[in-house]
Amino acid sequence: MAFNLGCVNQRAVLVANGGVYDLERHSGGKISSDPMQAIARNAELHEIAAGLAGAPDGALEAAPLGLCVPRPQKVFGIGLNYKAHAAESGMDLPTSPVTFTKFPSCLVGPTDDIVLYGPTSDWEVELVVVIGKRGRDIAKEDVWGAVAGLTCGQDISERTTQFAAKPPHFDLGKSFDTYGPIGPMIVSVDQFDNPDDIGLSCDVNGERKQESRTSELIFDVPTLVSYLSGICTLEPGDLIFTGTPDGVGVTKGTFLQPGDSVVSIIEGIGTMTNGCVERS
Ligand code: ZN
Repeated sequence: MAFNLGCVNQRAVLVANGGVYDLERHSGGKISSDPMQAIARNAELHEIAAGLAGAPDGALEAAPLGLCVPRPQKVFGIGLNYKAHAAESGMDLPTSPVTFTKFPSCLVGPTDDIVLYGPTSDWEVELVVVIGKRGRDIAKEDVWGAVAGLTCGQDISERTTQFAAKPPHFDLGKSFDTYGPIGPMIVSVDQFDNPDDIGLSCDVNGERKQESRTSELIFDVPTLVSYLSGICTLEPGDLIFTGTPDGVGVTKGTFLQPGDSVVSIIEGIGTMTNGCVERS
């Protein structure tokens, strides 16, 4: 049985029947309200989700979903992982995954504001993998079993900072506070007909900027998780932003402005709507 794991008022919830069910309550106190514990115990969520009975504790509209992975130990980003994006960036196709860090402090929820730190901040819609099981040297064929679920992410990128040093330091330009919206929830892998072929898109102020499918990834999810787990032990809640398709702003010299609305959509996961505001 599938589960959709979200967070409302810092408490883990299961999303079902148009509403939210408090996980601690509906697990009979077996799983705490901490979303990080819920992710670590994702194997048990299938049964709890299957047993949900009665009306939800709250309607989704009344209880907006917050940050579903509040304290991951590690957040990886992958650069140039779609051919068309590598081409628009004028870069050669990578021969191994171009990996950087987004510091966990940049993460915000699916409706939170993006606070702009300069005039050259850019959108990047991405599929985000949420690791579910502690593991090292995970074989490609075992990867989907080690994933708690999938969510949507925006790898917001301050291009001036990103390219201020040579070689560029991707990590800093992509780690400003609020530059990592994720959500709206973690969707269990069993809900996808093919988890390696998922549509994703990004609209800014109602205009379609990016649209692709994860089947276009140069390094797919099994390859990325296997590769990264060969370097460091992956922990439940660790996140991998898998890379963005073509259509980012920097190649056309257009960037996010205060008042802009960034809508990120991933098939089978949902929609995030993040407004852009000026830093006060
Ligand atoms: Zn990115």
